[in-house]
Amino acid sequence: MDGIKTPASAALPYAARESVLLAPHAMHSADSAGRKHPEPEHPYRGPYQRDRDRIVHSAAFRRLAYKTQVFTGEMGDYHRTRLTHTLEVASIARTVARALRLNEDLTEALALAHDIGHPPFGHAGEEVLDEHLRGVGGFNHNAQALRIVEVLEIRYPEFPGLNLTHEVLAGQAHRARRGGERTTRPLVEAQVVDAADSLAYGAHDADDAVQLGLLSIDDLGQVPLWAAAAAQVRMRYTALTDAQLRRAVVRQLIDQQVGDLLAATEARLVEHDVQSIVDVQAVERLVAPSAELAGQTRELGKFLLDRVYRHPDVLAKRAVAQRALGELFRALRNDPTLLPTAEAQAATDDHDRAVADYLASLTDRSAWEEHARLISRKDW
Ligand code: MG
Repeated sequence: MDGIKTPASAALPYAARESVLLAPHAMHSADSAGRKHPEPEHPYRGPYQRDRDRIVHSAAFRRLAYKTQVFTGEMGDYHRTRLTHTLEVASIARTVARALRLNEDLTEALALAHDIGHPPFGHAGEEVLDEHLRGVGGFNHNAQALRIVEVLEIRYPEFPGLNLTHEVLAGQAHRARRGGERTTRPLVEAQVVDAADSLAYGAHDADDAVQLGLLSIDDLGQVPLWAAAAAQVRMRYTALTDAQLRRAVVRQLIDQQVGDLLAATEARLVEHDVQSIVDVQAVERLVAPSAELAGQTRELGKFLLDRVYRHPDVLAKRAVAQRALGELFRALRNDPTLLPTAEAQAATDDHDRAVADYLASLTDRSAWEEHARLISRKDW
């Protein structure tokens, strides 16, 4: 290796490129508040590009491949995992950011990091960890994502964590805080990620649930958002099979929602005369669907809650996973020497937190392996 050279294509540095391409209310890399541990600028990658790359190269990000989104691994291999959900969110968020002339690198970094704090078994796993940490601040996947990128990922000799920029940390911190604690409003790029997240999971959970046989296409026809998208598809195609119809409706649904999100957001930017990042602070929420689509999306969410997230098959899997994770927590709490690393065993001041950090880092698969190693074996 003869060191990093600046390629000819970077003749226009990222900052100059951004000043031409980005809206004035977008977050410009040149205005970043920087990193906790100062580092020299990279010759051709901007700060948010580097953040994105650091996230992609983290162990926590790779483990998303084997973590549950809604449906567990043994239910098949069609449905979304936590990783593919994250990639769908990032894809939608980048589309929105580019169309609104926002900072796409920052948006992508935030999207890729947004779920890295999830423990195994999705929200079922989160509930168990939260219960066991009640007395010491609880467990929340958004707060855990911050802990991972600030403390737990060890990749650099100079500092703990990934040393991400202030803007990425602040965006994630905003997700971790509850309504009343919020003092500043998130950047537009962070708002895009929130909107892309809720838009993505409604469409993909409906798709997965039908493919898994938990719902039928006809059931979804009762939901106005789905019915409107299906009507659009039927105008364009005749004689689709159920599977073709379902996939076409999912595409239509995302396209329709993104189109609405862009139009409603652009209207708000004009209405509030947003010209700068300071102006962004003055508005409760700039990036959001229209009131009509927001209402319809909530209805889809409620339908999915009743019919999918509380489906007996899903609840049965949740119960088994929760019992296993609870058993693991108690076993590790009672005997710290069972934790796999010396650092974790030595964390006597906050042992429960060390147990939660360890369990949260596991994938569904490795959680079952730990359960076999520490719990099931005792019953043999
Ligand atoms: Mg998510």
